[in-house]
Formats: sequence, structure tokens, C-alpha cells
Amino acid sequence: MTLDDSLRQAMLASIIDTSEDAIITKTLEGIITSWNKSAERIFGYSESEVIGKHISLLIPQERLSEEDMIISRLKEGKRIEHYQTIRATKTGARIHISLTVSPIKDIQGVIVGASKIARDITLQKQKEEFINKYIHQLELLNHIGKEISAQLDVNIILQKVTDATTQLSGAAFGAFFYNTIDEKGEAYVLYTLSGAPKEAFDKFGMPRNTEVFNITFSGQGVLRSDDITKDPRYGKNAPHKGMPKGHLPVVSYLAVPVISQTGVVIGGLFFGHPSPGVFKEEHEKLVSAIAAQAGIALDNARLYQEVQMLNEKKDEFIGFASHELKTPLTTIAGYLQLAESSPQLIGEFLPRLNKQVGRLTAIISDLLDISKIQAGKLELNFEKTSLHGLIKESVETVKQLCNQKIECSLPIEDIFVTIDGQKMSQVLINILTNATKYSEPGTKIAIAALTIGDEIRITVTDQGIGIPATHLDKIFSRFYRVSTDDKNVEGLGLGLYISKEIVEAHRGKIWAESEVGKGTVMHIHFPIETLRKN
Ligand code: ADP
Repeated sequence: MTLDDSLRQAMLASIIDTSEDAIITKTLEGIITSWNKSAERIFGYSESEVIGKHISLLIPQERLSEEDMIISRLKEGKRIEHYQTIRATKTGARIHISLTVSPIKDIQGVIVGASKIARDITLQKQKEEFINKYIHQLELLNHIGKEISAQLDVNIILQKVTDATTQLSGAAFGAFFYNTIDEKGEAYVLYTLSGAPKEAFDKFGMPRNTEVFNITFSGQGVLRSDDITKDPRYGKNAPHKGMPKGHLPVVSYLAVPVISQTGVVIGGLFFGHPSPGVFKEEHEKLVSAIAAQAGIALDNARLYQEVQMLNEKKDEFIGFASHELKTPLTTIAGYLQLAESSPQLIGEFLPRLNKQVGRLTAIISDLLDISKIQAGKLELNFEKTSLHGLIKESVETVKQLCNQKIECSLPIEDIFVTIDGQKMSQVLINILTNATKYSEPGTKIAIAALTIGDEIRITVTDQGIGIPATHLDKIFSRFYRVSTDDKNVEGLGLGLYISKEIVEAHRGKIWAESEVGKGTVMHIHFPIETLRKN
């Protein structure tokens, strides 16, 4: 060996020893002939433990066939470059490696073995896996986001969200509950369920107003527990003191509030699993991200439903309004035609013409009032007004219009109230007119006023058709009319809405009590001295 040769050998040995990669040589039969320091570090075996052993020592059982492929390629004189595979360490742990295998030839050029360079790429693989998982989750989120934001049907949104989150979180079952609480502060309404049939919850009633559920429904945040039965807030409520008997078993627990853009807690997504420690931070993050998207989608769906409803009401209103405006106009046109052919009758027609013009004026002023209310420009002129005067004048106006008897009972002593007399009279005329419109002629209609403390209390009572309980609140909304068999009762469903706005502008209250077939009592309360709003 020349000096040059020995120098080259020493350099090679040093490179092999200091290399970051495992460098191994083996015979064509697979027997290990050399083993550097990095091989020791990566695979955990010392040199003396592996020299003379078969290379299959490093190959996991299920990958043993790879060695045959490698040897046959080597025999053909081919290299194997950057072949990514999995090998086993001394402890049995699996590691990802990138292999480059080259044939070793003797002086005659005969292949006698192979050199193997193995790079540990476990960390790189873990990063790749992490990124892939992250991308997969983003894709999923994006997909679910798209799916639910394209939906305007609340039921479909909730089912999709519950199904997707149950699947993603690995829960045994998941459910969405709406955040509605009854008078006793109990029941939340079950809405959608995934992973279990709806009947699984039927016999338990709704989740109760417990400490654990409240965290979600009050929007305090996410509750994730490896074992909810060990939570100090769990199991405090009688009679079940925890899950009712026969309930789907829940040990791992995850609950995420679904909050609208306005900050209202719409409901909660709840997940359960019978084994402990199932829900991890990544599940919490994923479900929270979907819950945020669900909040927006549900907001949109609700707005859409409102727009739909308003649109329907608007169409209905246009129908009513045209009918209401057309009826007096047709009547007026009829009388004018008659008067043309018989001018001597004009005197007789005048009161009827006047009545129809009055009706038109009333409709148009209602419409003007509505537009003022909508624009926030309902102006009130407060002045001292006699209570007797207010009621008597309103009663007189209605009597003239409908020719019906109205009983009136007033405090013996008159009192001056600070109100917009004209507007308040409009309210009373409207309520009294309704009383006549919705009852048979000849039945009793009464108006009574009294002062209690610093408040005026007026009631208008009739013995008419009454209002079903389910409509009692709604009749004060715009364009709302209870459908009756009598299609001839005029009205646009605006009177009570305008009345409510006027009474409330006086810091008062208006509401109805009624019994179908027996009659209605309208209550109007307002302060004697109304302080101006603002
Ligand atoms: P309308 O122009 O239809 O009378 P209102 O806003 O004044 O509109 O009243 C709304 C609805 O409330 C009416 O369409 C009617 O169905 C119901 N209503 C109001 N007052 C009475 C009453 N005294 N008796 C029965 N129903 C009434």
C-alpha cells in the first residue's frame, strides 16, 4: 500500500465515521460487514452486535421482501437511490429512512457486496404527516364551510354540522341542542343527533339546566373532559345525580357553544364517548372552527327566513292595500255615476261619499304613519289634555262612523294628562273601531278609564268574535290579521301596530285579553305625565 493509498483510506474512514447517515456494508448474502457510528446511533445496535448478522435484523417482518428486490437489483449492477422505507431499531421502534444502496465490486469487477447509506427521515416524515393532516383538516373545514354556507335551511345546516363534527371528533355520538329555556329554567330542545337514533334521548327528556350544561349555553366556552364523571360540577342535580339510567354512556365529553355574530348563544354541540380521554385539543379546535362557521350559517338562514316572511307579508299587504283602497273608490265612482244621471239625488249621496272619502283618508294616513314609524320620525306634540275630552271625542267619532252604542265610564273628576291628544285619540278610535268591526251590531261595547297612582288605565271591552290565544301578541305586529271567515271585514293589519307605537312613545303599554266567541278586552296604560322620550 502506498502512502497515498493509506492516506485515502484514513480520509474515507474519517468521512464514514463522522457522517450523519448510517453507512453499512454487506455481502450479497445480506451479512453485515461494516457499521459506522451513525448506524449505531440510528438503529441502536453497537458494531459488535451486528457484524456477521443478517441485514434482515433491521427489516420489519412485513417488509422482508424488500431485501430480495434490493439484492436482485444489486446483482444487475444497479443502484437504489433515495428509496423511502421503514426499518426497525433495536427497541423495535419503527423509523422512516431514505436508502441509497450501491454495489461493491472486487478488482475483477465482480459484485461482491453492497454499501448502504441510510438517512433517518423520521422527523421529516412527521412534519410531512403533520402538514398533510393540517391540509386535510383545512380542506374538511373548507368543505363543511362551503356546504353549510350554501344552505339556507336551518335543519339541514344543523344535521350536516352535527354529522361532520361527530365524525371528526371520533365521538360515539353527537347532538346539537337549541338554547331555549322554559319558564322553570329547564329544558333545552333537542334538535339533531348523530351516531344514535333520536329515540335514544326520547325517554330522558331534555338536558337540564345543570352546572355542566350551563357552561355551554351561557357561552362561557368549550368544555372538554377526559372523564366528565370526575368533574366537580358533574352529578349535582337530583334525581339522577349524573346521567339518567340507560343514557348512552358518556365518559369523554366535549361541548362547544354555537354563537351567532351578534353574540347570542344559539345552542351547543355535545359529544360523548364511553371511553376516557378520547377528545384531544385538535378535536376541540376543529369542532370550535366548525361551530363558528355554523353560527354564521345559522344567522344567514335566519335572516333569509325573515326576508322570506317579510316578502310574503309585503305581497299579502299589497293585496290587502289594493283591495282596501279600491273598495271606497269603486263605491265613490258608483255614486258619482248615479249622480250624473240623477243630479237631484246628490244631496242624498253626499254623506255616503263623505264616509268613503273618510275611509280613504284613514287608510292613507295609516300608511303615512307607518312610513314615519319606520323612519323613526313619529313626532309627538305633548300638551295638557283633558281625559274626559279625549275619551268622549274619540267615542263620538266612532259612533258617527258605525252608529253603534258605546258605554262610557269615566272618573267623576276630570284630569289633565300630558300627552299627544291627537295621537292618543287615534289609538282609542282604532281600538273602538276594532271593537265594532269584530263584533255583531247591538252587542255591548264599553270604554272605561281610571287613574291608579300616576297612571291612566283605559279598557275597551267588546262581546265580539275574540282572538285566539296564539295570536294575542302577534296582532300588534305590522300587517298582522287573524284570518276570519268574514272576508268583508275591512283592515290592513296596521291599526294595532300604529297604536302600540304611539302608546309606547308615551312610555305606556297596550295588550289584549280575549276569549274566542266571548269577546276581547284591550288594555291601554300610560303615565299621566309622560316624560318626553330622549
Ligand atoms: P285591522 O285593520 O285588520 O283591524 P288591526 O291592527 O287593528 O288591523 O288589528 C289586527 C288584527 O287583530 C285584526 O285583523 C283582528 O284579527 C284582530 N283584532 C283586533 N281587535 C280585535 C277585536 N276587538 N276583536 C277581535 N279581533 C280583533
